Order: sequence, then structure tokens, then C-alpha cells
Amino acid sequence: MKQETEIVVAGGGITGTATAYYLAKAGKDVVLVERGDLTRGSSAANAGFVWITYRAPGPALRLGLATLDSYDEMSKNHDMEYEKCGGLTLFETENLFKDMAPFVDVRKNAGLSGLKFLDRNGLLQLEPHLAPFVLGALLNPLDGHINPMRAVYAYAAEARKHGAQLHTGVEITGINIEKGHVKSVITNKGEIKTKYIVNACGAHAPVLGKMVGLKVPIGFQREQILVSEEVPGIVGRPMFTASYKKTVQQGGVGGFTTAFFANQTKKGNLILGGVNDFPGEVTSTTFEAFEAISREAIRYLPILKTLSVRAIRSFAKFYIHTPDALPVLGKVKGIEGFIMASGLNDFGMGVGPGAGKVISELICLGEPSIPLDGFSLSRFEN
Ligand SMILES: Cc1cc2nc3c(=O)[nH]c(=O)nc-3n(C[C@H](O)[C@H](O)[C@H](O)COP(=O)(O)OP(=O)(O)OC[C@H]3O[C@@H](n4cnc5c(N)ncnc54)[C@H](O)[C@@H]3O)c2cc1C
Repeated sequence: MKQETEIVVAGGGITGTATAYYLAKAGKDVVLVERGDLTRGSSAANAGFVWITYRAPGPALRLGLATLDSYDEMSKNHDMEYEKCGGLTLFETENLFKDMAPFVDVRKNAGLSGLKFLDRNGLLQLEPHLAPFVLGALLNPLDGHINPMRAVYAYAAEARKHGAQLHTGVEITGINIEKGHVKSVITNKGEIKTKYIVNACGAHAPVLGKMVGLKVPIGFQREQILVSEEVPGIVGRPMFTASYKKTVQQGGVGGFTTAFFANQTKKGNLILGGVNDFPGEVTSTTFEAFEAISREAIRYLPILKTLSVRAIRSFAKFYIHTPDALPVLGKVKGIEGFIMASGLNDFGMGVGPGAGKVISELICLGEPSIPLDGFSLSRFEN
């Protein structure tokens, strides 16, 4: 491992590997360190939805659109099982069509011109197995899905190809600051002198923040998911119920919250969700969640019961929770060279590569092409 480099990226998830890739591509001397293996964090344990529908028009949506461009570019050389197959928000009441109209109008004007309401007949043409109580959906043709592990390994491979060094089993344990500037990082494998440290440590970003005296309000929001045996052809595209966004923000109030979502891998395994809560740094799964997810999955997709489809495993990891559900990206006050790249909540696969690109621009050019002011750590001061 080098003892000196211009930039250290901490964290080998989608955000860290994409950041390392863009920095190395721009000719920077960059070392990425990951305390476990690549994808040890949330980037290995997610549902693989690539969603931009729910990003607010402005910088957040632009990060999403930049991510789609990034996947298109990366797909030329890497099979990440990325498909822009469209994504569905399911409606169970007529009112939801009315309620969502302003949400859709504002996004249509901001670049998501393909957003389209589907009535039940239109929806059944795409997804014939949905239960009769699902009355329609919102379709965004730009949304889709990806194999998250393949995505991380693709960015890692391209970063290496452009000269970045990536080291696994290397944990940052301290950061030296002199006169308000980053000077070096301390790891379990020795010290690396550096001008920049990019904190892409996901739910553990507060640990690095604490090393330099910063309070980073990122928390562990556990999300549990079921995986079925291979049963190709049940769902054609990622989908979730319209209530998902509401319940996900309330996660844990009075126990846990459940909201239906489904995706299907290329091999045919259904990824079924989800249950979330705030038990701290806990990644075990619970029988209650298993039951709740199964019940909802069968309610929305009765064919699962007809075919006696079996769940083969469950898993849990963390949404990188921030109080306002926005990421934390960019420079921090008072410490030159300390850059935040975390807080990607439940949308890291739809924003991580775009975030990596703009963090690289911030370091290389001084100004990112997408303004990051709304994502700064200082918004949490007071
Ligand atoms: C069950 C579940 C389902 C989800 N589904 C989706 C989905 O469908 N679509 C979507 O967009 N998002 C989804 N998410 C969210 C998504 O997984 C995250 O937003 C995303 O993976 C965050 O990536 P990251 O690179 O920022 O963090 P991570 O992938 O967590 O990477 C951070 C890395 O930093 C490393 N690290 C920590 N501390 C140190 C240290 N001191 N030194 C060195 N390395 C360190 C960790 O080991 C880890 O590998 C889901 C999350 C969960 C849990």
C-alpha cells in the first residue's frame, strides 16, 4: 500500500468505488480503502432498484439522471444486469391518482417527460399477476434495476484500470489534521499521507466524522428483505406501493413498518420487501418481518400462493438514514480536504455514481457541475 497519495477514498460501496473511478479517470492519484471486502456495506445487500422518480426536481434529480448516464457508459464494458425497464408505483385507491398529479407535473417539467399514469387495464398488460385491489400505477420508463454487486465491482475494476489502488481489509482508525488541513489518515495497515479524504463510509460515516470533531447525523435504519426460489416471469419490473415512501420515513415508530415492494433478478429470484426499523447497528433478521413481508407479497401477488413459491433466505442491512432523507455531500466547514459522500438513504443505487462524479469534479475542478449546497453537512447545524 502506498504511504502517500493525493486522495484517499474511504469505503468500498457504490459511492466510494464510483468516486475512485471518476477521480482516477481524471488523472488523480487515488487510493481507496475498505475495511472489509468491497460491498461489505449496504451496497451488497439491497433490492437493486434504480429509481429516480422520487428525487426532487433540481440537484437531487440531476444526480439521479447523472447516475443513469453513468450506468449506460459503464454497461458498454461491464454486464451489471442493468436494465432501464421502467419502474412502477402502485395505487390502491382512486384518490392516489389525484394526489400524485402535482408530483408528476413538476417532474415532467424537470426532465421526466415519460412519466405516465396507467389504469388497471394498462397495468395488467405489463404486470398480469397483480391482485385486483391494485387499481393502477405510475410508470417511469427511465427507472429500472441492476445487480448491485456487479455494479460495485464494475466501478472498482474501471478505477483500477485508470490507476487507482483499491485495498480491502484496511480500516481507517484516525485522521491527522494540521492547521485546518487534512494531512494523513491512520489505518490498521499504516499511515497514508494525503490532501483529501472522501468519507464514503455509508452508515459508518459518523465514525470518520468524529475522528475530526464533526457530528454527522447519519443513522442505522435496518431494512429486511426476503428472497424467493427461482420462479421466472412473476414481475417484469421493480414496483412498490405508493405508501412506501411514507412508511419508510416513519420506520420504527411503534415497532416496525411494512411496505410492499418487489423486484425479480435475471435468474428469477424475487426480491420482496420490506420491513424497516431503528434497532441500532443490528443486521439480524426477525421472524415477525419474515411473516409480514410474506403476507404482503401474497396479498399483492396471489400467484405466489397458487404456485407455493418458497422463500429461500432473508437479509437485512442499513438504509444510510438522514433526518431529511437527503444525502450529505461535499466540503465541510473548517477542515480543508475532508469531503462527505454519504447519507444515500434508500436510493444509493440510483444516486451513488452521480454523486461520485460530482465529488470528483469538486476535487478536480473546484466546482461541481451539480450544486451541492443543499446537501452540505452544515444544514444540520443549530
Ligand atoms: C435491504 C436494503 C434494500 C435497499 N434497496 C435499495 C434499492 O433497491 N435501491 C437503492 O437505490 N438503494 C437501496 N438501498 C440503499 C442502498 O443500499 C444504499 O443507499 C447504498 O448501498 C449506499 O452505498 P454507499 O456506498 O454509500 O455505502 P455502503 O455500501 O454501506 O459502503 C460503505 C463502506 O464503507 C466501509 N467502511 C466503513 N467504515 C470504514 C472505515 N473506517 N474504513 C474503511 N472502510 C469503512 C464499509 O465496510 C462499507 O463497505 C437498500 C438498502 C438496504 C439495506
